[in-house]
Amino acid sequence: MIIDGKAIAADLYEQMRQEIDSLEVKYGRRPGLWAVIVGEDPASQVYVRNKENAAKKVGLAGEVLRLPAETTQEELLALLDRLNADPAVDGILLQLPLPAHIDKDTAIAAIAPDKDVDGYAGMKQGLTARAGCIAPCTPRACIQLIKSTGVPIEGKHALVVGRGELVGKPVAALLLNENATVTIAHSRTRNLKDLALTADIIVAAVGKAAVVTGDMVKPGAVVIDVGINRGADGKLVGDVEFEAASARAGYITPVPGGVGPMTIAMLIRNTLDCYLLHVKCRR
Ligand code: NAP
Repeated sequence: MIIDGKAIAADLYEQMRQEIDSLEVKYGRRPGLWAVIVGEDPASQVYVRNKENAAKKVGLAGEVLRLPAETTQEELLALLDRLNADPAVDGILLQLPLPAHIDKDTAIAAIAPDKDVDGYAGMKQGLTARAGCIAPCTPRACIQLIKSTGVPIEGKHALVVGRGELVGKPVAALLLNENATVTIAHSRTRNLKDLALTADIIVAAVGKAAVVTGDMVKPGAVVIDVGINRGADGKLVGDVEFEAASARAGYITPVPGGVGPMTIAMLIRNTLDCYLLHVKCRR
């Protein structure tokens, strides 16, 4: 069965829109997401516009602050300080990449952890190993998609293919939090097929087409494909050989239309979670 990330995200947006309306009634203000983008990177402009549209759709407060490419690190840090101190700001999204003259790690570290809706702090400090902190959006999207199938994660063997800082490692930590038995495979793993054939859940986060072939999938497994690759015909494909894998998988995400749409929905969810933390702490 195909896991329709777009449809699941659409349901979540509707639920969050209603939740935001009632939060405004209860606490007197809407959750606020501020996005900061430095420079003119075309892909980043598209990503930020998609996030802005999602934020508008659910009725978040906030704005996109577009800074020129020549913005200095000090100017950016001063802006982040102002946003950290502003009680109307629940979430700060710093779009990457930053121009080369700005140190990415310094800028990310300047975002208050309770406003870090991308979950960068969690990723850097291994906080995703602790349940209850802000999880990065794509890994959180993977967990939501697995849960959407109704297949329990607890006690299952989950194989994460890829140990990248953005997806592989944090998704493995989140699966562990859900009480899966987790194996992490990477480019030096020798027996990927053997491991995969024992996995009840496979999360592929590599960035290479067909790393997970159909014959690696245990019949009935849940397969989450995070990879985004451009096929020879120019079409987007994931890391999983979709046709062959979907014939064996119990549930599988398509690319596009799986993890991608859920990632942005999780950014909004993280903003709501930060807001709830703020309104409860400030009462
Ligand atoms: P990354 O940091 O480059 O990590 C890739 C990982 O894949 C590395 O750990 C690498 O192993 C491993 N790998 C490479 N070849 C392999 C092979 N043949 N077998 C097993 N493992 C192999 O990448 P990332 O940032 O995590 O991103 C992974 C993919 O997810 C990319 O396609 C990216 O575009 C996509 N992505 C999608 C979304 C979304 O919203 N849908 C969001 C973020 C990322 P080593 O560590 O040994 O080198």
